[in-house]
Amino acid sequence: MNNQKPTSDATPAEEHSTPEPLSTTQIQFRRAKAHIVGLKRGLIEFFELPKRIVKVFFPIEMEDGSVRTFQGIRVLHNQVLGPGKGGIRYHPEVTEEEVVDLATLMTWKCALFDLPFGGAKGGVVCDAKSLSETELRRITRRFVHELGSDIGPYTDIPAPDLYTNELTMAWIYDTYNAMHPGANNRPVVTGKPLELGGSKGRNEATGLGCLWATERLLEFGLVPELESVAGARIAIQGFGNVGAVAARRFMEAGARVIAVSDSQGGVHAPDGLDVNRVMLHRKEHGTVVGTPETQTITNPALLALDCDILIPAALGGTITGAVAEAVKAKLIVEAANEPVTPEGEAVLDERDVIVLPDIVANGGGVTVSYFEWVQNTENQKWELEEVERKMKARIRRAVEIMIARWRKLAAEAVKSDEAPPLEPASLRTAALVVAIERVAKAALQRGIWP
Ligand code: NAD
Repeated sequence: MNNQKPTSDATPAEEHSTPEPLSTTQIQFRRAKAHIVGLKRGLIEFFELPKRIVKVFFPIEMEDGSVRTFQGIRVLHNQVLGPGKGGIRYHPEVTEEEVVDLATLMTWKCALFDLPFGGAKGGVVCDAKSLSETELRRITRRFVHELGSDIGPYTDIPAPDLYTNELTMAWIYDTYNAMHPGANNRPVVTGKPLELGGSKGRNEATGLGCLWATERLLEFGLVPELESVAGARIAIQGFGNVGAVAARRFMEAGARVIAVSDSQGGVHAPDGLDVNRVMLHRKEHGTVVGTPETQTITNPALLALDCDILIPAALGGTITGAVAEAVKAKLIVEAANEPVTPEGEAVLDERDVIVLPDIVANGGGVTVSYFEWVQNTENQKWELEEVERKMKARIRRAVEIMIARWRKLAAEAVKSDEAPPLEPASLRTAALVVAIERVAKAALQRGIWP
């Protein structure tokens, strides 16, 4: 599964770009586009740039009476397939570049999962852990107020991400609704509490989707000496909405979860952790560290642990080239967005460590967000069984489409008379090729305005 070097037929955006290092999404896009025949140059440029970047600065009165100014960003990458869709994160390291990158990834993820959405993402630069609930509510309301009609049920629909949750989504809905009275505004945001139109299954969707995507991948027999999740030894970095749910779901599927971590450190038990006990400890103490009958482990040590499947479920950029050298897992399941850097991926590729990419692995979240949006627009409520049945079918289908395309690309590379011949694509590249082709086809079917 080799990585493709960027080709030399540069678009105007590439030619005139400053020598800034390319972002993860840009590198991945350029690898994928090398495998797409006849993609118009103008479309390439259109896909490499976001449609809109909104940056706002707003003051908040803090609990101690002081006033602080915060920065919020919302990026709409592409609306060819429908309104923008993507989470809002609260983190001190949020940057415009990161948000653009993640919004772009959302365009491809929605296309791969055949959802009628484009890509978007947002964030507020803040340390959510050090803010009170009241301060977080003020930040959320003021951010939504500043965005005005830049978000909306048919323009751009936020969802939870790092350090935001269903309460944050409730405030987003409530604020938007106050600003746009007299309409059904529930579909403006997904990941809401059930009482406000949230979907059954949304909280668990991303972690559960990781399990189902992994199970389907392993059924193809592509990972040597790993036929099933049952009995596999799993290490998970990040124990929030995604990581904790994934830990419990993998354990329930018969895996041995041998280590989990959060921002304060991790816990390790070679015979397998009781994930429910770790959850209880985190609820009482705010961290997994110190769970009885576990050994403490650092985050770097967890990433290098002897295990079968490593699941990064925290921040982006954690598996760098150096970290990848130390990885002992046979398979990496990208529960987080962009946890493996391009350098990390090149090293993993050399070492034959397979990566189940984020675009597939964590697509359960946006899939159930779409179900929530459908229920909200139709004033329906689906049972959990219906949500999970529909979600499972889409996750399995996404894996199958990715593998089918990967096999086709591998066969084409063998026959290729290009000089030098195209190298075999990674699973990520295969998934991106499918997604980019879908958006390109739709863009041309719509016709370029005017
Ligand atoms: P969350 O805020 O609920 O949890 C984040 C977890 O990561 C926490 O346990 C936190 O302690 C841990 N963490 C933070 N910094 C860390 C560090 N430096 N080292 C180790 N652990 C650290 O966030 P989440 O919703 O679970 O999102 C996690 C990842 O999954 C993000 O990359 C997000 O973009 C991605 N994602 C989330 C969803 C979703 O539905 N929530 C969907 C798709 C992708």
